Amino acid sequence: MDFQTLCTFDTFKSLCSHYGYGGTLKDVIEQEFTRIKGITYLDHAATTLYPECLLRDYFQDVSRNVYGNPHSHSPSSRLTQDTVDRVRYRVLQHFNATPEEYSVIFTSGCTAALKLVAESFPWRPQTESEAGSHFCYLTDSHTSVVGMRGLCCGRRVVALPVSPQEVENRARTKGEDVTCQTPHLFSYPAQSNFSGRKYPLSLVRGIQTRRLYPACDHQGRWFVLLDAASHVSCSPLNLQECPADFIPISFYKIFGFPTGLGALLVRNDAAGMLKKTYFGGGTAAAYLSGEDYYVQAANISDRFEDGTVSFLDVIALNHGFEALYRITGGMHNIQQHTYGLARYTYMLLSSLCHGNGQPVAQIYTEGQFESPSTQGAIVNFNLKDSHGQIIGYSQVDRMASLYNIHVRTGCFCNTGACQSFLGITNQQMRRNVQAGHVCGDSIDLVDGQPTGSVRVSFGYMSTFEDCQKFLNFVAQCFVEKPVTVDQVRLEKLKTATAASEGLHEDPPINITNGGTVIADERAKPTEASLRGFGHGDSNSHREAYTLTNIYIYPIKSCGAYEVHDWPVGPLGLLYDRSWMVVNGNGVCLSQKREPRLCLVRPQVHRPSNRLLLQASGMDSISVPLENNTQMHTSYRVCQSKVCGDRVETVDCGDEAASWLSDFLGQPCRLIRQSPDFTRDMKKRQSGAATSTSLSLVNEAQYLMINRASVELIQKLMSSRQDDTEGDQVLDTQNVISRFRANLVIAGVEPFVEDNWPHLIIGNTQFLVAGQCGRCQMIGVDQENGTKTKEPLMSLSAYRKGKVTFGVYLTHQLPEGSSKVSVLSAGSLIQPETNSS
Ligand SMILES: *Cc1c(COP(=O)(O)O)cnc(C)c1O
Repeated sequence: MDFQTLCTFDTFKSLCSHYGYGGTLKDVIEQEFTRIKGITYLDHAATTLYPECLLRDYFQDVSRNVYGNPHSHSPSSRLTQDTVDRVRYRVLQHFNATPEEYSVIFTSGCTAALKLVAESFPWRPQTESEAGSHFCYLTDSHTSVVGMRGLCCGRRVVALPVSPQEVENRARTKGEDVTCQTPHLFSYPAQSNFSGRKYPLSLVRGIQTRRLYPACDHQGRWFVLLDAASHVSCSPLNLQECPADFIPISFYKIFGFPTGLGALLVRNDAAGMLKKTYFGGGTAAAYLSGEDYYVQAANISDRFEDGTVSFLDVIALNHGFEALYRITGGMHNIQQHTYGLARYTYMLLSSLCHGNGQPVAQIYTEGQFESPSTQGAIVNFNLKDSHGQIIGYSQVDRMASLYNIHVRTGCFCNTGACQSFLGITNQQMRRNVQAGHVCGDSIDLVDGQPTGSVRVSFGYMSTFEDCQKFLNFVAQCFVEKPVTVDQVRLEKLKTATAASEGLHEDPPINITNGGTVIADERAKPTEASLRGFGHGDSNSHREAYTLTNIYIYPIKSCGAYEVHDWPVGPLGLLYDRSWMVVNGNGVCLSQKREPRLCLVRPQVHRPSNRLLLQASGMDSISVPLENNTQMHTSYRVCQSKVCGDRVETVDCGDEAASWLSDFLGQPCRLIRQSPDFTRDMKKRQSGAATSTSLSLVNEAQYLMINRASVELIQKLMSSRQDDTEGDQVLDTQNVISRFRANLVIAGVEPFVEDNWPHLIIGNTQFLVAGQCGRCQMIGVDQENGTKTKEPLMSLSAYRKGKVTFGVYLTHQLPEGSSKVSVLSAGSLIQPETNSS
């Protein structure tokens, strides 16, 4: 079967026995999830999405009832207490537990619940004569679990990482010393948040009865911390079958709303031995303020919920449960549905091959998605090119954004799993940090080795179409044509079912030559052939470069304003990115979220000292160019953020705000950088004497692009045209405008500017401060605000690895010079190359 046929609903149905919830999924999505139209959201393991009815029901509830603080005794307070307690029972019911066995301690999330256990577990310190308590944790644990060991160190408790291979449940051979009561804690995730692997719930009893070797070798009483945060999002958890002592969860992973609320489910008999050192509002039955006297609250929940619980959020949980059961019928159905989607995605992705038969994906999994009891709705992988080289996750992320596919990349707060699957040694980890890589950044490859991977995860409202969009995206962007399928592997996976459970090794990937060819190989122009096109020997003479265009963008992310001669101000071109638009919450709007911003065409009108705001269909208005002191006092000063930096800004008033709100169809305001606020550039610069001050730009004072590079990308676009779903051929000016440069130069060789350390334009000297990384922003047609996948597709295909285009510049103005520097279009450019 070829790839296209495999990607149909009919094939999917033949591979997957459970889909949807009795045929209602389509309607549910139309009614409850209108906001995800056009988006392929595949990051449910990070947070799932709430249905609209949850918010509606919740809003009705809180707008009709008066909920007082639960610590008071008024009728409104009672109502809160009773409702909150009812929610506790509802939570327990969900996990098939009773209030006689378990208590629910509300926390701010799973992490807070873990911290609570670490702080209050009755750790016994190691002494000369006694081994003390042990804290064992599976290496495939979330950071928040591993971090518990920080508390162990201070208390002389041994923290012991255990790798999944070591875990084995078998009958004890050693004798039992029942007198030893030293408490130990073993923590493991019910489901790995990295790979979706489900660890056997039977381990709980194995650990409690010390049948787990070799980890539980120490005499004493073993308690189990079952990190269920990832597991419970799509799977049922029955505490009758696995009576773990501590179960931390976060509710947004189940319902999508509310956030900031989690719980520690704790066995009542284990809760009794937890030691509370801190006491806060509500947790003390009695205490003396002048003396060290404290009696803890008798009720377990009361004892551990410091301060006032987030009671309105707790009440929202009720509506979360209602909505979830109403839509899906319960966790068992959700598990079947999401597992089916994940298995199908796994099967196709792992059989997908390049034209030369090389597999496209390296999937990080222990088993082969044989059963929902061993595998959750997560597929974790890296993509490889046709030579078997890993494609960095940042590039996959960037291309996915272009397709409006939301995935998660990096290490997923699970360094243990990341290291073990990607084969990164501790030493390499340390070296990566030295190379500047930190968790969550975009340094995806160090020396060709991946520092992280890509994760797709499903939720109860995920659909077959989500899988289809994702698989087609991989085939279109990352598979060297013709797309082929490893039929042998696929057949094997089809028959891999629950029967083969326990199969722990991924069999070597079988490359067959029998893959189906569905498209003809098209000769793609290579870098060399494109570069050579029409050029003489470019090294034999020194080229002349001229500055052909100067653009300023007075309002960040809005239209360009082309100028001919323009003064250089202290922060770059005068008025460039002096203003920006923020949404109703004061958050900077960019074309990434609001492409229509490019239709706002600001114009600097110096005779009147005004900035004109223009847009088609709108009457023009204007705001003053300069911030005078009077304005300063009458307008609000506000704090905002640009690219992670705090910036101090001044609001530009109601007229501009309502003009922009009208045009963009959402509440927003115009703000400008405070005149006395300085923001320094973050990038390290080798040649810069002093720090560089920035306007509201993202990274640097100037961005310069080369017309020759634009033409190269254009050529590539037309040669790839058949791949690109009918995107129009774009003219040079259109492409130039998408890169939103300040300076456009005409040269002969594309991308030469990448290697210039310095340059002089007219009589101003500049330092090259690095290359400009590109994303889906360049897909926005600056003429009309529509989005296309080009030119990012072609640029990404050409620039293997880091997708950059153009360079950042910093001006080097003579110290203390009062002379105003002016840049003029038509000026000659003198590059200083490293070799000269
Ligand atoms: C998400 C998650 C956590 C942390 O949850 P927070 O809500 O961030 O506190 C811990 N463990 C696992 C397995 C998770 O998936």
